Amino acid sequence: MKSIEDLGDLTGKRVLIRCDFNVPLEGETITDDGRIRAALPTLTALRQAGAKIIVMAHLGRPKGQVNPKYSLAPVAKRLGELIGAEVKLATDVVGPSAAETVAELGAGDIALLENVRYEPGEESKDETERQALAAKYAALADVFVSDGFGVVHRKQASVYDVAKLLPSAAGYLVAKEVEILKRLTIDPARPYVVVLGGAKVADKLAVIENLLKTADTLIIGGGMAYTFLKSQGYEVGQSILDPDKVEAVKGYVQTAAAMGKKLLLPTDTIVAKEFDNDSPQRVVPSDQIPADHQGLDIGPSSAEAFAAEIKGAKTIFWNGPMGVFEMPNFARGTLAVAKALAETDGYSVIGGGDSAAAVRQLGFADDQFGHISTGGGASLEYLEGKELPGLAVLEENN
Ligand code: AMP
Repeated sequence: MKSIEDLGDLTGKRVLIRCDFNVPLEGETITDDGRIRAALPTLTALRQAGAKIIVMAHLGRPKGQVNPKYSLAPVAKRLGELIGAEVKLATDVVGPSAAETVAELGAGDIALLENVRYEPGEESKDETERQALAAKYAALADVFVSDGFGVVHRKQASVYDVAKLLPSAAGYLVAKEVEILKRLTIDPARPYVVVLGGAKVADKLAVIENLLKTADTLIIGGGMAYTFLKSQGYEVGQSILDPDKVEAVKGYVQTAAAMGKKLLLPTDTIVAKEFDNDSPQRVVPSDQIPADHQGLDIGPSSAEAFAAEIKGAKTIFWNGPMGVFEMPNFARGTLAVAKALAETDGYSVIGGGDSAAAVRQLGFADDQFGHISTGGGASLEYLEGKELPGLAVLEENN
């Protein structure tokens, strides 16, 4: 992949950059600005190089329609505060306001286009439609920088198609994320422990298959653990379960054993009757979940065992909370894993999304970990060994 330096002298050049600013919002307040902060090294370097910077980003799922609820206005404001300069927000994506805002840019200035997902062409499955929009993006600029790691697994106009139309390079964030994930796939320091949690087993099955080849130990917690427990013949009561995946999961457990890999499931579980923070809770062995209860967190013995494994590892990758961490009474398992990751001497990588939100919500600082990825889905797909369109296009392009 080309780097920003490969694009040559950027003084006065219009640089179109795709960032991932899909931040959590409460009203107009950004509750975690981690993704905006992660873009600062590239944006600062482009400013120092005297480029005219045009940022493309999305927020939420407006599904091809203009919807003020998904305006990037709070992002423009926060980015301006962090960078110490005004960030002008165009009121459209590729319309007159975008053209005017770009025309007014001076060297080192930053403009933000409105939410690219206001445009139906952005996420369209129809290539012609995407390319038509990409041509409008490209007309605004001289070169393209791809720095939205959280979206590089998407074949979308502002990620993939536009890179075919302009000289393109990876920004520092994308380059750094790829370098770190590569370390996990090629010769990681061992023992290499992978901790998977969260609710959706289906999303993570392919990664499990691939990780069984590279990792030494696989730890399964969170909602997905119940499909594993069920595959071992345990009853899981009202716990979240993916019945269609029980057989596949059973196969992975057998494969892991045949390959001599350690696979840890929670031996105890915190259960409650209701999916409610205040529902009375108790700890039960994982093979004794009452029929009218559901597992909402890993139990204390499991938390201890998982933490010990993490502390003994040289490389750790973690994706997905160990329980319903959004409810404080069911956050202890996730907290224990996060604490072990912060304390281990091994190199720890947190794979985006909910796990990143969890560690920040639980009060940890980013620098307590080796790396917090900005892309949950993208990092998992990378570890699955899939080709990510937004990266592949940077390799093949001019
Ligand atoms: P995912 O998007 O697959 O990483 O799932 C993240 C979500 O899984 C979080 O919102 C958690 O609240 C949820 N989760 C974790 N453990 C459980 C559980 N035992 N039961 C239900 N949901 C869970």
